[in-house]
Amino acid sequence: MHAEVVSIGDELTSGQRLDTNSQWLSERLGELGIRVLYHSTVGDDLEANVRVFREAFDRADFIVCTGGLGPTADDLTRQALAEATGRDLVQDDTALAHIQALFARRQRPMPDRNVCQALFPVGSNVIPNPHGTAPGVDISVAREGRTAARLFALPGVPAEMVEMWTETVGPALAAATGEVRVIRHRRIKCFGVGESDLEQMLPDLIQRGRQPSVGITVSQATITLRITASGRNHDECLAAIEPTAKTIYDCLGSVVFGEEDDELQQAVIRQLRSRGETVAVVEWGTGGLVADWLSVASGSDGPFRGGLVIGDRDALVALPSVTAPAAGIVAWDFDVASWAEACRHQFATDYAIAVGPFPVADGDGQEPGMLPLAVAWKGGTKMATPAFAGHPDILKARSGKQALNLLRLHLTPD
Ligand code: AMP
Ligand code: MG
Repeated sequence: MHAEVVSIGDELTSGQRLDTNSQWLSERLGELGIRVLYHSTVGDDLEANVRVFREAFDRADFIVCTGGLGPTADDLTRQALAEATGRDLVQDDTALAHIQALFARRQRPMPDRNVCQALFPVGSNVIPNPHGTAPGVDISVAREGRTAARLFALPGVPAEMVEMWTETVGPALAAATGEVRVIRHRRIKCFGVGESDLEQMLPDLIQRGRQPSVGITVSQATITLRITASGRNHDECLAAIEPTAKTIYDCLGSVVFGEEDDELQQAVIRQLRSRGETVAVVEWGTGGLVADWLSVASGSDGPFRGGLVIGDRDALVALPSVTAPAAGIVAWDFDVASWAEACRHQFATDYAIAVGPFPVADGDGQEPGMLPLAVAWKGGTKMATPAFAGHPDILKARSGKQALNLLRLHLTPD
């Protein structure tokens, strides 16, 4: 059993409006254990709509479409459904009475055009729309040698779509699929290795058809492993996910820093809180980004003491014990370990993180520069100089994360 979500409207295909209905509907279908295999988006064009519906009836068991149910000339869903199924449109008197009552309540005369919203393909059912003029359509289409395909057409207005799904379509689908199955996910967050290196550290988890399935995505150098299981209920899914999660933890060790919406700064704050310790930061290249992250992490008042932003070499006087670097040295020769130590004293913290200046972006054929990072604690300091290469859009965020990760790993027992 799988589904297709169809979104209709020129405002979607022209890029003027983002298709959020598909995302919402796909999540709901997934929760019912129905896999969504296709998303189609089509403009306000009769022939194109008919084609999309014919294809959807052929390749999906359930179709949920939104848009095109309004009263204007560009609203073609009813007509397209009639044509795609070879049925006539007939008026539904109850639906018409509902539309008339809605206009009466708003004390406005009903325009003639709205009568078309009470037209339905023969043999279809009306999906009530309590707060809008456009009722939806529930239509089944017989298929040779297979079960019938069933389509639900809903208005594009998100609030109406949600209400009609909740009251009618969702329960109808739950009943139609018989045994209710649910889909649950668990996201494990990782940092510190590349995507392909991480995949190699795992034993064949990311293969198609595996149950539970494991997907991998990367966002600004943070890697997310998403484990997905389907089962009869929430607990059954979580139990099915658990052994896979354990394998991931065992194989990746300290590369894993958290789960779900966790970020590195949250992981660091958690570590510091549990130890009753504090941190401060001094940043050049990241310009206060790490301090910003730490300051908004929940529970950070206490562990996070403050930060310094360095804009040029003269500003290093803010760290009295730091000697001015020689003119003309490359970024990665800056002694950021002494900055971290000086910062730790300034703020009287247990730890300090230092981010040096960003190296000049790598030019044609040049070796990439290195980013100087350091962490200081009561007993010493540690420096790191990761390569400073990659897409400019992610360099700043990745640098900040690399700095936080240095402290996180220092605080993580081996
Ligand atoms: P319609 O039912 O086609 O008249 O759509 C009514 C309004 O709902 C449109 O003007 C859009 O603002 C909104 N809408 C339609 N389809 C979508 C969609 N897929 N995602 C988000 N909003 C939508
Ligand atoms: Mg429309």
